[in-house]
Amino acid sequence: MTGGVTSSLGKGIISASIAKLLQARGFSVTNQKLDPYINIDPGTLNPYEHGECFVTEDGAETDLDLGHYERFSNVPTSQANNITTGRIYLSVIEKERRGDFLGETVQVIPHITDEIKYRVKLLGNDGRFDFVITEIGGTVGDIESLPYIEAVRQMKWELGHNCIVVHLTLVPYLAAAGELKSKPTQHSVKNMLEQGVQPDIIVCRTEKPLTDSLREKVALFCNIVPTSVIESIDAQTIYEVPILMQQEKLDVEILRKMNVESIQEPDLKSWEEFLFKLKHPLCEVNIGLVGKYVELKDAYKSIMESFVHAGTANQCKVNLKMIHSEDITPENAVEKLKDLNGILVAPGFGERGIEGKITAIRHAREKQIPFLGICLGMQCAVVEFGRNVLGFEGAHSKEMNPRTKFPVIDIMEAQKKVSGKGGTMRLGSYPCTLRDGSTIFNVYKQKDIAERHRHRYEFNNKYIQEYEQAGMLPVGINNQDNLVEIIELKDHPWFVGVQFHPEFRSTVANPHPLFVNFIGAAILHGGAPCGK
Ligand code: GLN
Repeated sequence: MTGGVTSSLGKGIISASIAKLLQARGFSVTNQKLDPYINIDPGTLNPYEHGECFVTEDGAETDLDLGHYERFSNVPTSQANNITTGRIYLSVIEKERRGDFLGETVQVIPHITDEIKYRVKLLGNDGRFDFVITEIGGTVGDIESLPYIEAVRQMKWELGHNCIVVHLTLVPYLAAAGELKSKPTQHSVKNMLEQGVQPDIIVCRTEKPLTDSLREKVALFCNIVPTSVIESIDAQTIYEVPILMQQEKLDVEILRKMNVESIQEPDLKSWEEFLFKLKHPLCEVNIGLVGKYVELKDAYKSIMESFVHAGTANQCKVNLKMIHSEDITPENAVEKLKDLNGILVAPGFGERGIEGKITAIRHAREKQIPFLGICLGMQCAVVEFGRNVLGFEGAHSKEMNPRTKFPVIDIMEAQKKVSGKGGTMRLGSYPCTLRDGSTIFNVYKQKDIAERHRHRYEFNNKYIQEYEQAGMLPVGINNQDNLVEIIELKDHPWFVGVQFHPEFRSTVANPHPLFVNFIGAAILHGGAPCGK
């Protein structure tokens, strides 16, 4: 999957939709993303640069497109599913230092392109997947994408019809001319042809339906048949895209090009049921998302999508109100947080906006509003309870105040000797045991769970008894490291803090129980029939 004309056309969603459609025909699929930047992974990028950092089961810090892949296909991804130029070069340079290429000049072609091809084929080699759908980040024509397009050229040559290229472009509508324009698409395909790659299928992102004459024009100028020109019209929700792609026969065209027989008639029944419920909610709730990146639409992507899944499971529309934590003060909290049926305090790093988060949590605790704290959100709940219930004046996380008298959140033992920042947090899936009879046990309905993590700090066990006695209960424990993973309040209808990230496991097929239950609690806390 390549992209032309501009970025942000939705390559990730089209890739995920292709996976969904092939899966619906009985094939096993995996999605992969190749990112042409030099960071080894996006773990060190801040959300202003690259949106959310998604975390896989095996602890890879990845591009947020992997979240879309998992949410659509319900198949977990791994380290091998997101590769950057940095990682490719690192591995080639390590091989060079080891002496693997002794005597050879190490070059972009063949060494870098071989490494790229190796990383793509790796996913196909172990027989788990019928299709590997690899998305190349960026836009054709970017200097940094050149080795990737060259690798695609070589793979097409080596694999014949077992490798095809789906190219996504923009077909702009010029209001003044009253016309859709195919020229940018022609140019981006020319650019690919100059690099030796003929796209097999062209998906045209458009605001208006493609006319037959436009399809024919694209086909003629880009050397493909008109049925290989696929319309991708703006959709109400990303979850509609697989259905739209099916109507355009994108899956049929892919199988035809690859000479593959379909295993079964496409089965998208449960997907369609999900879409129906999503579009026909019976009630609505207002949820406040308190964080410091609320102005960025991609910073809390997985949390937002988890609310779509959980709302749909409750047949309830979730109106997400983004609230900037720096704007909340004890004086304006009532006003800023009014009309909310639930409050979520987001994950994060660093001091900025922390007092606003703590104030929002106090409001949720005292006014008995359903509350979910994720990672830093859970840590802030512990700090708030320490300060305002246990009377620990100036209680804090050592991340924010290393000299606090009450370090209720402390650095994890294993993190003390860590100095580098890349890939060094406690990352990926770890087990957790739930306390019988707790709210959280009722949510999961099982004792042993596993969830994904990304953190350096933890609840300080020194204070565990005081918290327990005062009513903040450590109800989820990782027994290996004796680490508090979940806290909940005894005297509150629904107040849960989790050290892990449930949002990374929520999918259309499996909405996360924590979010589903949280929305259930929000409905009870004054959710209204739709339109009221
Ligand atoms: N900054 C906190 C820690 O490192 C929380 C991290 C997070 O919210 N992902 O422990």
